[in-house]
Amino acid sequence: MTDDGFLRVSEVSKWYGDEQVLDEVSFGMDRGDVTVLIGPSGSGKSTMLRCVNRLAEAQEGSITLDGEEVLSPDTDVDELRREVGMVFQSFNLFAHLTAVGNVALGPRRVLGLSEDAARDRAADQLERVGLADQLDSYPAELSGGQQQRVGIARALAMEPKLMLFDEPTSALDPELIGEVLEVMRGLVDDGMTMLVVTHEMSFARAVADEVVFLDDGRVVERGPPEQLFERPERDRTARFLDRIA
Ligand code: ADP
Ligand code: MG
Repeated sequence: MTDDGFLRVSEVSKWYGDEQVLDEVSFGMDRGDVTVLIGPSGSGKSTMLRCVNRLAEAQEGSITLDGEEVLSPDTDVDELRREVGMVFQSFNLFAHLTAVGNVALGPRRVLGLSEDAARDRAADQLERVGLADQLDSYPAELSGGQQQRVGIARALAMEPKLMLFDEPTSALDPELIGEVLEVMRGLVDDGMTMLVVTHEMSFARAVADEVVFLDDGRVVERGPPEQLFERPERDRTARFLDRIA
């Protein structure tokens, strides 16, 4: 069982107006762990991820990253977001910048690297996601899978200590999903700590240390993939898994 230490989410609750979208959510990750969040649409998966980098504000509970309270009013949110990379379903690349330009932007503007150093770092990360031959391509010249790999390289270029992925393959044509999952598996092999929302159950089964099933803002069940997928303890989990299988 994975636990605590590195990322600790404790009894996190969040409301949008009167609607409670997270209800005392708790789970923990060690450094190098991969945790996959699953659950039906609207169950709070994206909101949970967004609370970790303060794109959404949890009203109750605690989230510690490397011992620091993320939810504290004293937290430097810009620093937090430098340390926590995020990959979204939509790639959100700048159309007027090349692949290397998109990836170099953060290192240049946020980390203050020189233009050459930022470009070198961007090139390294694009090579890491298999795009060494597309450095100077514009987003419109790339497939969706390639664009998402640029999105991953962009997050990696900030040298985050935690990566959040919010349905990174959901916007892709089926034939392009594999190349993105392949890159993500490479990051797992490199020891990256990853919190991933995905419906790709074979990916979850292969790489997750723990799977967390959210429904209606609550953790219904969590456990290693072989347990959660093969021997779910809750009917609710079994029904969800049947439906998406
Ligand atoms: P999931 O990612 O599991 O589909 P979300 O975290 O996106 O779920 O949404 C959980 C609930 O919170 C949904 O009922 C959704 O409508 C609501 N919600 C999400 N974002 C907002 C927002 N910015 N304002 C109001 N309600 C929101
Ligand atoms: Mg979502």
